[in-house]
Amino acid sequence: MAGKVIAVVPAAGSGRRMGSSRAKQLLLLGGRPILTRTLQVLLDIAEVEGVVVSAPADSLDLVANTCLEPYGLSQAVVLVAGGKERQDSVHNGVTKALALGAGRVLVHDGVRPLAPPELFRRVLDAAGESGCAIGAIPCVDTIKQAGPEGWVEKTLDRSRLWQVQTPQAFDAALLAGALDKAKQAGFVATDEGGLMEWAGHRVRLVEGSRRNLKITTPDDLELARGWLGETDMPWRMGQGLDVHRLVNGRPLVLGGVEVPSSMGLLGHSDADVLTHAVMDALLAAVGMGDIGGMFPDSDPAFKGADSMELLSRVVQRLGEAGWRPQQVSVTLAAQRPKIAPHVEAMRDNLAARLGIEPGMVNVAATTSEELGFVGRSEGMAALATAVIVAVE
Ligand code: MG
Repeated sequence: MAGKVIAVVPAAGSGRRMGSSRAKQLLLLGGRPILTRTLQVLLDIAEVEGVVVSAPADSLDLVANTCLEPYGLSQAVVLVAGGKERQDSVHNGVTKALALGAGRVLVHDGVRPLAPPELFRRVLDAAGESGCAIGAIPCVDTIKQAGPEGWVEKTLDRSRLWQVQTPQAFDAALLAGALDKAKQAGFVATDEGGLMEWAGHRVRLVEGSRRNLKITTPDDLELARGWLGETDMPWRMGQGLDVHRLVNGRPLVLGGVEVPSSMGLLGHSDADVLTHAVMDALLAAVGMGDIGGMFPDSDPAFKGADSMELLSRVVQRLGEAGWRPQQVSVTLAAQRPKIAPHVEAMRDNLAARLGIEPGMVNVAATTSEELGFVGRSEGMAALATAVIVAVE
């Protein structure tokens, strides 16, 4: 069979069954999004020459920024907009795969990160011979067919029943033909094997794996975390350092508090050095660079910006990436004025924006014993550390 092996990963599902506001493929497993783990497994399989992900049209940037870019996958993975049904998403992915020269297409759910590599090879080999092959495991539970009232109608013969999984592999042209035909006929299958069956092709079963969990409920996620030996929620930490120059005639804003002073800090925003260090620590923890990159001082939108507002935006970005602040500690180096009377208000401001208890925020201040730029009141510096934890 000529042409490349291209993997198509439908990842357009929502988090409804997970009871989470985040799409389930973006939840973290072992500190990485589930989708990222799935893609890394596919990219490690020598036979796979390209990977196409279909994600919801309105979250392409989110998927790129949280699942691809931080893990160096932006070049290796092609992102396309998915559709309303899973089948539409696969269709869009297969169209892209054909454009990339696919001879065989390997369809694999974005929420099956634990599929063993040899399973992909088994399915690909079988599809190389038959054109259509799907992973499946024998049913171990007895299956009943029941009516809408909950009365059993009959007991099915378990020895002939299989639970279907992905990966599923197909001759690319056959799959594309079946997808086109189904679209015209308005037929929707729950898996591509079912679609091929409907289109009149013989589908070969290949022994799947019980480890190949489809993560769709909180129980699944807990099970997967247990298998990976992940007993506690993952956490990360980051550090941030900021310095601003002191000048006459500017307000002195620290931790969102305007501190009475004849001199204030110079900067494009309100120059709240303390809050800037906290934001940098949070962004460092999640691996998103720093506030200079997120709110460039060349952008007039941030002129005179309220740093507490910017902090809220940083916390929001963290949430989109699956993390929330847990603890923050910040130390300000300033020679004068006296900071101590204001630290409680600063701490409360920061805690409110971070969405954590004031007890999880510490604001400390020190002079520099008249030494250096801080000691000469030429500027102030702040150093922060932040601990973040994965959103459940
Ligand atoms: Mg700054």
